[in-house]
Amino acid sequence: MSWESTQTYYRLINQKVREQLGGLHSARIILCSVDFAEIETLQHKGDWDETAKILISAAQSVKAGGADFLLICTNTMHIVAPQIEQACATPLLHIADASANALIKDGITSVGLLGTRFTMEQTFYRERLEEQGINVIIPDDSERNAVHRIIYEELCQGIINPDSKAAYLEIVDSLATRGAQAVILGCTEIGLLIQSSDTRVALYDTTEIHAAQAVEFALI
Ligand code: GLU
Repeated sequence: MSWESTQTYYRLINQKVREQLGGLHSARIILCSVDFAEIETLQHKGDWDETAKILISAAQSVKAGGADFLLICTNTMHIVAPQIEQACATPLLHIADASANALIKDGITSVGLLGTRFTMEQTFYRERLEEQGINVIIPDDSERNAVHRIIYEELCQGIINPDSKAAYLEIVDSLATRGAQAVILGCTEIGLLIQSSDTRVALYDTTEIHAAQAVEFALI
């Protein structure tokens, strides 16, 4: 979620399965798509327990449909990943672990993190990287405000604005100046706004990384 990035996940997973298996092969996916307006209201009220209930019910329907493992197709909602794992007893490919794997593989030890305020400011995501020895740098308060606002008011609504792109690229540069060797696009819609070709700073797009590792995991 939002569906703006769900469609990217769907396309990437199918493309990667076709690359690996060829021909008409496509991914077996059980997708449970929620109403993001409902989730967003609860997020901003801080009612994470209620969001957990919605996602547990979604995860249970995915499991009942025969899924071998789960992806939560957003960074932010990994806040409730522990509750989902506990309620569903199905393996979950955690998006922060997928990111950590990609960073470690490339020898990155200090990284900038862009995402919603929840992802940048709470510990559920950063600590997972820090436990792997990766130092995490987040934007300053006014930059975090801009990054968060643009996600909800624009990207999750399919709006791609050149001024917002320039603002994001400036924040990427300032993270690099503060010592980040790379920047994690830790919100699944940010890749709709900025791409690696826009900057000399290495970008790690969590949507791409998560989708690629899901395919690897599925095809083992
Ligand atoms: N898709 C975004 C993320 O990766 C933000 C929307 C949400 O809150 O799920 O965090």
